[in-house]
Amino acid sequence: MRRAPYDELELDLRLGVRATALDAGAKVLTLDLGAGTREELAFDGALLATGATPRTLPDTPDLDGIFVLRTIDDALDLRARLDDHPRVVVIGAGFIGSEVAATCRGRGLQVTVLEALRAPLVRGLGETLGMVCGELHRDHGVDLRLGVGVAAIEGDGKVERVRLDDGSTVDADVVVVGWVWYR
Ligand SMILES: Cc1cc2nc3c(=O)[nH]c(=O)nc-3n(C[C@H](O)[C@H](O)[C@H](O)COP(=O)(O)OP(=O)(O)OC[C@H]3O[C@@H](n4cnc5c(N)ncnc54)[C@H](O)[C@@H]3O)c2cc1C
Repeated sequence: MRRAPYDELELDLRLGVRATALDAGAKVLTLDLGAGTREELAFDGALLATGATPRTLPDTPDLDGIFVLRTIDDALDLRARLDDHPRVVVIGAGFIGSEVAATCRGRGLQVTVLEALRAPLVRGLGETLGMVCGELHRDHGVDLRLGVGVAAIEGDGKVERVRLDDGSTVDADVVVVGWVWYR
């Protein structure tokens, strides 16, 4: 019988275990095994691959209707809100922002995308291909605004508008902030 792939690789795979500290000088990693138990693991080399965290805007107020997209629960929360036919503003035209915008337009929603750079998807595709994708968004009815900065997200209890650097505003019921930080 075929062994599990991790067994074939002869990995010491530990699930449900959190690394809580790394002493680079002593080359020791501290693990939280749960129930108050810790273990220290010596290493010769360590690779940090702990993923990314959604980036929020500085001074973002605590308003209902502001979403990030990282986990399945984030996606389910956003999808549930889209059933209310909101006006959607997406901040950031990277892969996440572009996919959200396309999905929202597919559901017939009013979508505005705000991007600081001169084209969408520049980090992944470069400016030329990014412009092609931008035209695709526009052809599908996305209000794509390039080279714009966001000054503030505003509202009273729930999000109502996004204020841009030039003082203009875009009305919104849902705002999706589509960036990540690498930890
Ligand atoms: C909504 C969304 C859609 C995406 N769609 C695509 C796509 O279509 N195609 C594509 O190529 N990429 C896509 N991506 C990006 C892709 O998910 C990431 O690039 C990829 O997951 C990054 O892999 P990673 O191993 O660096 O981090 P992760 O996949 O985040 O893995 C990090 C792991 O480290 C664990 N961890 C964190 N801290 C600790 C700790 N202290 N101790 C122990 N474990 C820890 C976490 O639990 C996690 O399992 C998408 C991302 C998002 C958010």
